[in-house]
Amino acid sequence: MLDSTYKEQLETWDKQYLWHPFTQMQDYIKETPLIIEEGSGVLLKDVDGKEYIDGISSMWCNLHGHRKKEIDDAIKRQLDKIAHTTLLGPSNMPAIELARKLAEIAPKGLTKVFYSDNGSTANEVALKMAFHYWQHKGLKDKTQFVALQYGYHGDTIGTMSVGGIELFHRTFRPLYFKTHFALSPYCYRCPLGKQDKDCALACLEELENILKKHSDHIAAMIMEPLVQGAGGMIVHPKGYLSGARALCKKYNVLCIFDEVLTGFGRTGHMFACLHENAVPDIMALSKGINGGYMPLAATLATEEIYNVFLGEYSELKTFFHGHTYTGNPLGCAAALASLELFEKERIRENLESKIDHLRAGLKRFELLEHVGDIRQCGLIAAIELVKDKSTKEPYPWEERVGIKVCLEARQRGLLLRPLGHILVLMPPLIIEINELDRLLNIVYESLQNVV
Ligand SMILES: *Cc1c(COP(=O)(O)O)cnc(C)c1O
Repeated sequence: MLDSTYKEQLETWDKQYLWHPFTQMQDYIKETPLIIEEGSGVLLKDVDGKEYIDGISSMWCNLHGHRKKEIDDAIKRQLDKIAHTTLLGPSNMPAIELARKLAEIAPKGLTKVFYSDNGSTANEVALKMAFHYWQHKGLKDKTQFVALQYGYHGDTIGTMSVGGIELFHRTFRPLYFKTHFALSPYCYRCPLGKQDKDCALACLEELENILKKHSDHIAAMIMEPLVQGAGGMIVHPKGYLSGARALCKKYNVLCIFDEVLTGFGRTGHMFACLHENAVPDIMALSKGINGGYMPLAATLATEEIYNVFLGEYSELKTFFHGHTYTGNPLGCAAALASLELFEKERIRENLESKIDHLRAGLKRFELLEHVGDIRQCGLIAAIELVKDKSTKEPYPWEERVGIKVCLEARQRGLLLRPLGHILVLMPPLIIEINELDRLLNIVYESLQNVV
């Protein structure tokens, strides 16, 4: 706990100097900021000493809880050797070890690891690789992309070009390259008006139509496998993922899976694409890569893609991309420790009962008047609030209903961040059953109080 003068200073400076991401600062500066001082396990503690369950895994990336000894120690050990050295030229030990490890656990065939710093850059790299691949192959017209409505791949101009969230992405449209958007398999609000069970994945036909018509101009399709995160935790129906993957192959279009959110156990498998044995040509990883400790990302590619970039220096086939902190040794050391924990603590095996418990615990929410849809995949859950359950009429975004519920939850000791009118529950993978119950109780009470 901090002495109160310093605390007040921090609050003032926060408002005076800090520009928070995805935040209307005019609103922010009217509120008392929540300033986190420390954390342990699933708990965060603010400067007043008040504790909160980290219900969104510190923006979807924490897996093993905070202050996890094994990861802390791995970083300290690495720090005693060197904090950072570049991969442009020399190599470093943790980066090598981690590349080997990632290739080992990744879906078969993804053997080449290209590092960067965050989810956006991991996807940016994937898009550039895909584009460049076809240029090298002499198919120079393959310059466009296919992506899904409601898709989210990051905030750089490139990844926004393949982003399908109107609210975030429409403003910058004049800056984008050409992308074809396929329908999102968002069953609760099926864009084709189908009922859940009788659809036979008609949305895949729509995707096929796009590919059939434009494949000569399309370099790659990019999608979040199984769960579209920022678009509303949209959980895809069984078969969509493998179907989309097969269509890419059929029409000679590279397939990029953005596993930035879904990777590293979130969905119950190590990678979401393993649920349907669908292996992409390129896979982007970040958030959970080192248990949510520090910025690190990796883009994995097949030998086939890698080989196309080989040639005489003068042929200029080099992949011209790289960041200052690419393959940072501290981040890689943390990632190795995180992956070791998966084995040592049987993280994935232990998840199954928690996933079932979450599913059972969400049942009672169905009866609440303003709960339209409940979606879950692994340890990701979303509650879509609606103004009118029978018509599925959404809450007007101006009502900020999600924010109101989350503020209520915060008072009760749970930190959440909504996606508009959709509540997101995504605790660290190591959450205990009793903590999960507490989380669900707080959400339930908060919902009852607000809507
Ligand atoms: C968060 C996220 C990104 C962007 O990652 P950043 O590290 O925030 O740049 C990309 N894709 C998906 C699926 C994400 O959830």
